[in-house]
Parts: sequence; C-alpha cells; structure tokens
Amino acid sequence: NPYLEISGLTKSYGSGDIRTQVLKGIDASISKGEVCVLFGPSGSGKSTFLNLVGGLETVDGGSIVVNGQDITTLSGRDLVEYRRRELGFIFQFYNLVPDLTIRENIEVCRHLAKDPLPVDDLLNSLGLWEQRKKFPNQVSGGQQQRCSIGRALVKNPGLLLCDEPTGALDYKTSKEILALMERVNKRYGCTMVIVTHNDAIKHMSNHILRLRDGVLVEDEMNDSVIPAF
Ligand code: ADP
Repeated sequence: NPYLEISGLTKSYGSGDIRTQVLKGIDASISKGEVCVLFGPSGSGKSTFLNLVGGLETVDGGSIVVNGQDITTLSGRDLVEYRRRELGFIFQFYNLVPDLTIRENIEVCRHLAKDPLPVDDLLNSLGLWEQRKKFPNQVSGGQQQRCSIGRALVKNPGLLLCDEPTGALDYKTSKEILALMERVNKRYGCTMVIVTHNDAIKHMSNHILRLRDGVLVEDEMNDSVIPAF
C-alpha cells in the first residue's frame, strides 16, 4: 500500500515561446517507511518535484496522493494544514535560528504537532545531548544539520522531504548524516524522500529514482541493500 503515489505529474515554467516543461509526466510509488533517494543532474527537476510534493507550488497536471489524500486538490488552509501535519523539511543550509540554542531550535516547531516527539529523546538519538545548550555557531556543520533534522522530526511528520541535506558537508560528515537519517527512519518510521546529486550515497537506499530532463529514467528497488549502520 503506497504512502506516496504520484501519477502523470507535469510542471512547466514560463509562457509562450519560452515555456519549458520541467516535469514531463512522472509516475512513482513510495511505500510507508521507505527511504527513497531521488538522483539527477542539476536542472533535471528534482527541486521542482520536491516543491510539488511539499505543496509549495501547484502542479500543471497529474496527482500526488499522500497518505490517501490527493494534495493537488487542496488549497489555502487545507494546504497549510497538510504541510503542518504531514511534512518535515530538511535543506542544504540549516536555517537554524542563531540566537536559540540547539535544544530551543528543535523545540520551536513542537507546538505545530498533535503528537510531538519528546525533545530529550531526539537530542539523544541525534547525538546532540552534549551540544543542547550551545548556539548554532558554536557547533560543527554536521551538528547543525543534525539539529535541523531534529527540528523537522519533532512534530513527528509522516513524510520528511530533504533537499540536498548533505550538500554543504564534506564526504565523511555526509556519510554520518545519511547513516543517522537511516537510523532515525527506523526509530521513528517516517517516510523519507532525499534529493541529491551525490551518487556516493546510492548504496544506502533501497529505492532509487533518477530524473533526467524531467523524465524518470530509473526507478529501482534494491532489497538486497542492508544499511551498513
Ligand atoms: P534540480 O533541482 O534538479 O536542479 P530544478 O527543479 O531546480 O532542478 O529545475 C529544473 C528546471 O526548471 C531548470 O531548468 C530550472 O531553471 C527551471 N526552473 C526551476 N524553477 C523555476 C522557476 N521558478 N521559474 C522558471 N524556471 C524554473
């Protein structure tokens, strides 16, 4: 039973002669609890895909069914409610609030949730307990990204959308963050879609999608992958 079911998804930008179709009819099915990685070169439509699933932009055609609800039919309050209830976002740049501590940065989103996760538990499982009273500029880039993962997770979202979560990190720290995301996925059970152009993490996921010029050129389940962490 798919948690995220995408059918015939199309999106264009511009108008008239300079109208370009960025997504040319995407079909994809992602199960509950899956860690799905979306690869593709720069400009292939990855961010557009994520923005559509995140309800930040409107589709031209097709449907996006999340947890049984077609979000392309939502607008206004319902869309805001969908984002608040169902989604967590992780970005390349951590967007932490500089004058809040690590703990406070995770706590600020807690009120959005009906059923938030306990902050102490999150701080521990993200390896941030020692850093909890520090400010973002007093911890490493990897720790800042851990904190932004905590902020996304604290409201216990069904779906975590990650746009180049390791884009600002070196290779070793990237691997640590991805391993952490796998552990977090197992512990808290949220479905993850991770957009990246970093092919090195291919072996860490059991569902791989690849976009090229707005077309899905690869959709591969790899059940033999057992995360090494
Ligand atoms: P990726 O994330 O794979 O790099 P994007 O989804 O950001 O790709 O972009 C896909 C294409 O859509 C690119 O050619 C980009 O220039 C174009 N594009 C993205 N957003 C907009 C926008 N708001 N207006 C016009 N063109 C856009």
